[in-house]
Amino acid sequence: MNWDEIESMPVEKPRENGREDHRVASETYDPHLDRDEKIRLLVRSLLIVLGQDPDQSGLKGTPDRIARMYTELLSGYETNVETLVNGALFDVDYGEMVVVKDIEYYSLCEHHLLPFFGRAHVAYIPGKQVIGLSKIARIVQMYARRLQLQERLTQQVAAQLQEVLQPQGVAVVMEGTHLCMAMRGAKQHDARMRTSAMLGRFHDELALRAELLQQLGPAPM
Ligand SMILES: [Zn+2]
Repeated sequence: MNWDEIESMPVEKPRENGREDHRVASETYDPHLDRDEKIRLLVRSLLIVLGQDPDQSGLKGTPDRIARMYTELLSGYETNVETLVNGALFDVDYGEMVVVKDIEYYSLCEHHLLPFFGRAHVAYIPGKQVIGLSKIARIVQMYARRLQLQERLTQQVAAQLQEVLQPQGVAVVMEGTHLCMAMRGAKQHDARMRTSAMLGRFHDELALRAELLQQLGPAPM
């Protein structure tokens, strides 16, 4: 649906200045407006199309709050991996599995722009280097703060660790509760999704994968 169609949609409670309000959406094409201002205009339009009065006291600040919120929730697009890792790689002579469990993450599903959240578990077998613990959480966060699918998020974290660490193997297992599933549609409040990405030795060696999954415990279904 394009903006012309949205703007021609009937509004449940038309307001006196309704026509003016409806024009704000098209102003978002103005190249002189910054992104926050465009989001404010779009949210205002959305509220009107939903039959709401965007000037009532509760909604007055909403477009601005949402603009600032998306800047924060989608900051992962602007994060630079090199700055993030900032040299926190250390040479070691350690060939055993490193497991980091229960990294909390919050993301937005790209299908509904609703949150999904849960825990990520990361394991790797070092090549020549290990990485600072907090950096793994930051890499998870960098990809979580984008519009995502849990499957892709899981793969991106694994691929990034593979690139940064050059390990013998890396595994990422993520568990997620999806509000788009809990609040609407199937209304499965307790259903959680588990996704995994296995690279290198975790991909090739069944025993290693089994050892990891045993360490992580049963799937939370
Ligand atoms: Zn969704």
